[in-house]
Amino acid sequence: MKPKVGFFSFTSCEGCQLQVLNLEEQLLDIAGAVDLVTFREAMDPIDRDYDIAFVEGSISRESEKVVLEEIRSKADVVVALGACAASGCVNAIKNHFTSEENLREVYGESARYYDTIDARPIDAVVAVDYYLRTCPITREEFLRLFTSLLLARRPYDPNFAVCVECRLAENICVYDTDEGEFCMGPVTRAGCGALCPGFGSACIGCRGFIEQANFESMLQVMEDYGMPREDAVNRLKMFNAALPEAEGVK
Ligand code: SF4
Ligand code: SF4
Repeated sequence: MKPKVGFFSFTSCEGCQLQVLNLEEQLLDIAGAVDLVTFREAMDPIDRDYDIAFVEGSISRESEKVVLEEIRSKADVVVALGACAASGCVNAIKNHFTSEENLREVYGESARYYDTIDARPIDAVVAVDYYLRTCPITREEFLRLFTSLLLARRPYDPNFAVCVECRLAENICVYDTDEGEFCMGPVTRAGCGALCPGFGSACIGCRGFIEQANFESMLQVMEDYGMPREDAVNRLKMFNAALPEAEGVK
């Protein structure tokens, strides 16, 4: 029996679903290995039951909580598909403001027709089994996790810093160049292969934080290299404002 697989989407740009569809050379193999029963960006639903749910997007409306809880109750395995689902991502920048302020700013006179709550990762609402954390997910990490699920292996989800992958790739540290970049690799969870530093850009923290990240040291480094404290704090929270660890970062 092939596992039934569904792709679902909440508050997001749906770029992570698109990354799956961009797996052009592997797509037929993927579709052949499982029964795809629903995939918002690709097909109409053909079954309301599924074993594995890939859930994209953060939760930012009360009504989304109900739908997510139903997905969880049906699926044996729930995977957070991308940074919006895994950490709240840039959606959570709105959490710096009140819901009333956000509604007024975005919808003006029509604000009363909309409901909104602070954006949160899906594991703030339901239990999550596995995470794909990048914004957007990389095709490689999707294939790695998808294969692990089919082989009943525990997926790779490192809890060490992007700096480790930078060293392995023999990248030049962003702080050792004269580009004026401020990299958050020391506190950011690896798994992307140090994608951005590999192209000479700073890591901006899209994959969330490692456990026991030393935020004070990170902020001090950014200040030492010339970034004002307030900007450094905002940079740290850009993708991660919804994470509990970010609360104490000031
Ligand atoms: S994680 Fe990034 S690419 Fe994926 S849905 Fe969210 S904003 Fe879009
Ligand atoms: S280097 Fe940082 S910002 Fe770039 S993909 Fe990896 S975690 Fe995200």
